Amino acid sequence: MKSDNYNFMNEEAYLDVTLIRCPNCGKLYVDASWYILDMESDIECGICGKEFNTKENIVKRLLLKITLEDEGIRLSYKDINEER
Ligand SMILES: [Zn+2]
Repeated sequence: MKSDNYNFMNEEAYLDVTLIRCPNCGKLYVDASWYILDMESDIECGICGKEFNTKENIVKRLLLKITLEDEGIRLSYKDINEER
């Protein structure tokens, strides 16, 4: 493939993630948003061992943007409003 045919948009990828916080000890976690919002599963905190529901402990939802550049990988993000 010739580099002239390379569209800049092809060098971007997105990952929709949600930050959650353990209600017991305050440890912050991140997981894929579809997993948290669609599965609504409980997880066990790796720090304090308490089980909590991911969807009920959402801090923020973010769209991570990963851009491949000549020098390496650039990460940026934008806020997404939580849909509860
Ligand atoms: Zn915890």
